[in-house]
Amino acid sequence: MSSYHVDENGFYGEFGGAFIPEMLYPNVEELRTCYLDILADPAFQAEFRQLLSDYVGRPTPLYYSVRLSEKYGSKIYLKREDLCHTGAHKVNNTIGQILLAKRLGKTRIIAETGAGQHGVATATVCALMGLPCVVYMGAVDIARQAPNVARMKLLGAEVRAATSGSRTLKDATNEAIRDWINNPVDTHYIIGSVVGPHPYPDMVARFQSVISEEIQSQLQEAEGRPDPDYLIACVGGGSNAAGAYYHYLDRPDVKILAAEAAGKGVDTGESAATSALGRVGIIHASKTLLMQTDDGQITEPYSISAGLDYPGVGPLHAHLFATGRATFIPVTDAEAMQAGRELAELEGIIPAIETSHALALLAMGSVPKGSLAVINLSGRGDKDLQTYIDYFKLA
Ligand SMILES: *Cc1c(COP(=O)(O)O)cnc(C)c1O
Repeated sequence: MSSYHVDENGFYGEFGGAFIPEMLYPNVEELRTCYLDILADPAFQAEFRQLLSDYVGRPTPLYYSVRLSEKYGSKIYLKREDLCHTGAHKVNNTIGQILLAKRLGKTRIIAETGAGQHGVATATVCALMGLPCVVYMGAVDIARQAPNVARMKLLGAEVRAATSGSRTLKDATNEAIRDWINNPVDTHYIIGSVVGPHPYPDMVARFQSVISEEIQSQLQEAEGRPDPDYLIACVGGGSNAAGAYYHYLDRPDVKILAAEAAGKGVDTGESAATSALGRVGIIHASKTLLMQTDDGQITEPYSISAGLDYPGVGPLHAHLFATGRATFIPVTDAEAMQAGRELAELEGIIPAIETSHALALLAMGSVPKGSLAVINLSGRGDKDLQTYIDYFKLA
């Protein structure tokens, strides 16, 4: 039987693993040996489910989008992760990881963040649980993402600037790893997507899999069948996509589409289309597809959307790409921005620009007429208002 889930060594096909420095081994090994038992514990599941319901606001609606459906001649449903507390799917994972950290007896939380969305989701759950929180963020990103820095501070987190290298996400990640090496006993490192060393990709996918679990029962109720013809999500690191795909991976009749950020165009040198441009390499301690130069230096990615601006992709997605289980489609800034505006005008929903990449597949003709499609609406666009204003000259 083919399976797209992780094997016991932490691999998805040839991708994944835990390529960590020796000094990180005890931390990662503790997590690896404990996470499945903790997740399987009914008391853990009860607490996780309760918080997802009462704090996050789950289940999120599966909304039948009448006007989009009319326009594109298909039945189109939107999975409303934008209605989660903090405005996106990321909190599903941070709730799960902080509960896990407590079970492991950890008393301090660290995280890395690029655009600040994962930092905010982490600071939120640390406030909820009364745990101190340090978020590492590149100095360049701190300057670009001032509102999220303010949110994290208001939530009681300490934001530490990474001042080496390009002073962006990759450097923040290095600082977080250094911190974890120095504080192996009391600290848990909350990674924000299905990336990093095993068991993170699998653990984060399991926490996010509540999305596909809900889609199955909601679609059953609405349409009398659990499976859509097409299932669509945007992929940065890949956590909202992994959650939306999870329970459908071994159901081959469900066609899986992944929208990745082409930036100004795949061949312009200003892109983040990892499946189109990447080669096998190691990033964040995981073997995966990675944008790199001929001599293996990581290429600086570009996308108008900060959340998709990542030079790699999680190992599950590299495997879905390599096996053909998912079709990866590059979407430019311009295509995404038009799709975001279209959803705002047709449905009264302003999507995150990350999400707009997934929505763009409709206008690009990736969904044949007459199909039943579910699009994961990963987040809301309030954080992106200034980008929309500048792009469409709305002010
Ligand atoms: C962070 C983010 C993404 C990209 O991250 P994934 O791990 O690929 O899901 C997508 N959409 C929204 C709204 C985000 O905040």
